[in-house]
Amino acid sequence: MDIGSSNLDTVHAVEMALLKDSEMICENPLCDVRFPQTGMAISPKRFCCDKCKQQASLIKRAAALLVPLGKERAWEIIFESMRETVIEVAEVVDEVSQAMRKEI
Ligand SMILES: [Zn+2]
Repeated sequence: MDIGSSNLDTVHAVEMALLKDSEMICENPLCDVRFPQTGMAISPKRFCCDKCKQQASLIKRAAALLVPLGKERAWEIIFESMRETVIEVAEVVDEVSQAMRKEI
């Protein structure tokens, strides 16, 4: 019967909704880890780990500073700061910026 199968569909839909609600995707834009929602309803867990929490808050703060400057200036600042602070990545950054200059 149609009624029977539509009831089943409804139950199935509710189950799906519950599953979806209890599973979270980490809110760090650099991470796509899915984890079960184990936090409290008042303060749900939004990140899979503390590192992701820190990264997401860094990204937000950096974005607040860089976005008003526009895309090109923001990129310049990001590459400049990488060169100054991360020695191991400096070579890679130079290669990337050289490649970018060639394209221009
Ligand atoms: Zn994460």
